[in-house]
Amino acid sequence: MGAKENGDASNVYAVADGKVYAKASDATGGNNVIIKNNDGSYTYYGHAPSQESIVVNKGDTVHKGQHISHQGQTGLATGVHVHFGVNKKKPAFAPQSDGLVSGGDYLSKVPRKAVPEKGQTVPAGPFSTDQDKDKK
Ligand SMILES: [Zn+2]
Repeated sequence: MGAKENGDASNVYAVADGKVYAKASDATGGNNVIIKNNDGSYTYYGHAPSQESIVVNKGDTVHKGQHISHQGQTGLATGVHVHFGVNKKKPAFAPQSDGLVSGGDYLSKVPRKAVPEKGQTVPAGPFSTDQDKDKK
């Protein structure tokens, strides 16, 4: 199922409560947004189609599950996806950055229920805090 570079099918959702730390563009991550989460960690969402497709701005408060961006293919991306990174200490997301943790491990600990709205799988959420309804 191909995600379009805009629209509901490509929505990217915040995985935690926090505040938008930066919204930028660079050669690797393309258009990206970094959120400082309330637990002090930083999460990175890269490759958005455009700055405008990142629907939050620096300083905005965001809530877990909030629509923040769209998947795209800017920067060094070989396909449409959201590039997700987590750093427990600082906003640094290069492969060997101090404080970087596995995005998969991080997400596995987030109380969640990935909501396959309209049948598509949506990376990075949205998440429900109700774990009891999860079926293994
Ligand atoms: Zn990527």
